[in-house]
Amino acid sequence: MKPFVADVHTHSLASGHAFGTIRELAASAAQRGLKLLGVTEHGPGIPGTVEPIYFRNLADAPRSLYGVEMLYGSEVNILADGALSLDERHLSCLDYGIAGIHGPCYEDAGVVKNTDNVIRCMEHSKVKLISHPDNDYYPLDYPALVAAAKEYNVALEVNNSSLRKPGMRLNCLENYRKLAPMCMEQGVWLIVNSDAHDPEAVGEFSLARRLLAELDITDALILNTDLEKLKAFLLN
Ligand SMILES: [Zn+2]
Ligand SMILES: [Zn+2]
Repeated sequence: MKPFVADVHTHSLASGHAFGTIRELAASAAQRGLKLLGVTEHGPGIPGTVEPIYFRNLADAPRSLYGVEMLYGSEVNILADGALSLDERHLSCLDYGIAGIHGPCYEDAGVVKNTDNVIRCMEHSKVKLISHPDNDYYPLDYPALVAAAKEYNVALEVNNSSLRKPGMRLNCLENYRKLAPMCMEQGVWLIVNSDAHDPEAVGEFSLARRLLAELDITDALILNTDLEKLKAFLLN
């Protein structure tokens, strides 16, 4: 497998429960040899995260730090009715959006409704990837999810933090073993992210790399081993 060149799902202390500044995240990314870092603070619904005005001010955020290209998005919450927790006005300020289910603002609605809620969010043109679709506390119908990811050209994430803290998301390893081969079969993009909440974890992909190698997932399917391919996908 080629080396990873980017990590596009990370949180700075602005998210309220993370521990580094964007400069500390970028310094760590540079140390690990990444070319691009995406900082994606949580959207409304997570206690202590940024106010939406933060996203309106992203035009002032540095575009390059320590030789690392910087992008800014948000990990927006998927809500019970399939809505996104950040409004249109603020979504339009982002380089790209991530949509994900999070306990503080989501109650399990069963596999059919959970899947439908995720798919409704995929329809939004800013949403480029689904974070940690690996958690049986909020189970998903993987064949339906993969088919929708193909239809809306949305990538599915392999989240290294889930693998690092397996108790946090139920059956995450088993779920990736089901999901990744389906993505390969259907030609759906995968992206590997750290979901770092501390600078130390930026670009730390070892467990995800091992899993994808074990599953014989080809480089061609993985977005963040190729900088130009990744940018074309995120910023289109
Ligand atoms: Zn998340
Ligand atoms: Zn996250």
